[in-house]
Amino acid sequence: MSVDLNTLKTAGPTITALTKPFWDAAAEGRLTIQHCEDCGKAVFYPRPICPHCWSGRLVWKDASGRGRLKSFSEVHKPGHPGWLPAAPYVVGLVELAEGPTILSFILPGTRPLQVGAMLRLAPIAIGGRVLPAFKPVEPEQRRS
Ligand SMILES: [Zn+2]
Repeated sequence: MSVDLNTLKTAGPTITALTKPFWDAAAEGRLTIQHCEDCGKAVFYPRPICPHCWSGRLVWKDASGRGRLKSFSEVHKPGHPGWLPAAPYVVGLVELAEGPTILSFILPGTRPLQVGAMLRLAPIAIGGRVLPAFKPVEPEQRRS
C-alpha cells in the first residue's frame, strides 16, 4: 500500500449523540469503549443499554489497545470507490483484550498476517479523519 490514506475521498462516519464519545476519542488517537457499571462487562459497538444485563449504566473508558485477530480479508474491490487507490488493503475482526470484537482496518506488519496474531492499536489518518486501526505486534515487541 503506497497511497497516503489521508488523501482518500471516503465517506465519513455518521456521528450521533450515542457514538460521539467514540469518534471524539478516535480523533485524539484513542479507542474508547463502553463498560457496564452493573455487570462490569465491556460493550462495543456503542449502545444505550448493556447487551449482557440490560443496565443503562454504561460509562466510557479507554481500551488497552491490545487485541487478537479473529479473521481478516484482503480487499481488492472496495465497496466504495473512494477506497480504490488504497486497494488491496486488509480489514479484520479484532477481539479486544476487554472482550468485544471490532471491525477494523489492519495495517501491514513485517510478516504475513495470520488469524490469532496479536495486534495493537495504531490510529491512522484516513480521508481527513483519524480512525482507530490495528497493526500486528512484531515478535521483538512481545517481550516488552
Ligand atoms: Zn451489564
